[in-house]
Amino acid sequence: MSEPADTELPAERPVVAVVGRPNVGKSTLVNRILGRREAVVQDTPGVTRDRVSYDAEWAGHEFVLVDTGGWASDATGMAAQIAEQAEIAIQLADAVLFVVDATVGTTDEDEAVVQVLRRSRKPVVLAANKVDDQRAEADAATMWNLGLGEPWPVSALHGRGTGDMLDALLAVLPSSDALRPVEVGGPRRVAIVGKPNVGKSSLLNKLAGANRSVVSDVSGTTVDPVDELVSIGGQEYRLIDTAGIRKRVKEASGSEYYAWLRTQAAIERAECCVVVIDASEPVAEQDLKILSQVEQAGKAMVIAYNKWDLTDEERRRYLDREIERDLNAWAWAPSVNISALTGRNVDRLSKAIELSLRGWETRVTTGQLNSFLGRVVAAHPHPVRGGKQPRILFGTQAHTAPPTFALFTSGQMDPQYVRFIERRLREEFGFTGSPIHIEVRARA
Ligand code: GDP
Ligand code: GDP
Repeated sequence: MSEPADTELPAERPVVAVVGRPNVGKSTLVNRILGRREAVVQDTPGVTRDRVSYDAEWAGHEFVLVDTGGWASDATGMAAQIAEQAEIAIQLADAVLFVVDATVGTTDEDEAVVQVLRRSRKPVVLAANKVDDQRAEADAATMWNLGLGEPWPVSALHGRGTGDMLDALLAVLPSSDALRPVEVGGPRRVAIVGKPNVGKSSLLNKLAGANRSVVSDVSGTTVDPVDELVSIGGQEYRLIDTAGIRKRVKEASGSEYYAWLRTQAAIERAECCVVVIDASEPVAEQDLKILSQVEQAGKAMVIAYNKWDLTDEERRRYLDREIERDLNAWAWAPSVNISALTGRNVDRLSKAIELSLRGWETRVTTGQLNSFLGRVVAAHPHPVRGGKQPRILFGTQAHTAPPTFALFTSGQMDPQYVRFIERRLREEFGFTGSPIHIEVRARA
């Protein structure tokens, strides 16, 4: 499957996070790698660095260097703060350059980082810094005890050993090709969800073709398969928990919870959820709950307004108003007006599902994202708060499915501003049919 847009994208550069406790020489090493004094070496903690990411190159290979010094959410102690910084770095990086001070030896803080690095399974290159001469190389050897493999003795200050260290780094970096999203084969997993009586079973039966079970049939004797393969508009899908849809769980108090649980489980297993809403009746609280359930789970979503055959002009006008008033938060989800009874537009669900899945799996390169953020922030800076102006310094898409962004900022962002960024992200890159998660990491 080759997306035409995909081939036009610039090759993604791998991201390397430089991690380590304060004063080991991270900034000096970043400067050394860049070959110019760009990163600011700070001896005074708290001095504002206005950049954290740099375009780097070694032996013809480009990568992005992220200097993670100083990031923390609610740090309790130094070790916790460093571990937190490493967590963030790992979340966004393809590889980690872990810097230790060979002249000091390993400390508790170093150990805290190692714990995090181990769990992450990201490739790590260990730089034993401040090995300014031959004599100090013995110090570097003691760093084997961190259990991260070979320590590379370097002097960030004089440049000693950095070439070998960079060769080792290139060796563990994924190639640009490997950074492209993987297309997973097999039919997509789709869940049909919605409150009772909206027409889930009817829709399932329509899709499954043969009426294998009558909609109103409350039969405990047939053992239905849990999932079923169905074809929608010529495209095959795996429908999640068809047994649950058919079972027609009664709305008695006890089983209501059971139905909710079952819905939740189906949502969790699905890639895309079709939320069925009865268009002939007023939109109910329970409809909204299910919409937010899908959003919270971070799944692609399509809204199916069912029983369209029962709506008249007046009802449709009213429905439009309800959608505008109550469903505005999910305006990103494509919708189809269907009738499970007559089969109207049911085939069109396929197009909507495909559209949503595409939005759900959209990847924005680090370069694209940061040039976009630069433009947005320049045109619409964050309002000044208490004499300070929080700024977005760097952003990266940490995951797809759903698109998840980490924004690194100087100071806390207003929730409205984050929502504004989300809106602009959607305008710029699409993400139709998918929730977007934004994690803000403010410098402590
Ligand atoms: P960071 O807090 O980890 O970013 O550390 P810095 O890059 O700010 O460096 C902390 C101090 O260590 C500074 O005074 C640097 O000049 C010094 N330093 C960094 N690298 C070396 C090195 O390779 N050898 C020696 N002797 N000092 C270094
Ligand atoms: P579920 O509880 O969500 O599985 O809903 P059902 O599929 O059991 O449908 C509930 C009732 O609505 C049944 O009487 C169906 O015949 C009826 N129904 C479902 N879809 C439609 C539709 O598109 N149009 C009309 N007129 N009735 C429908």
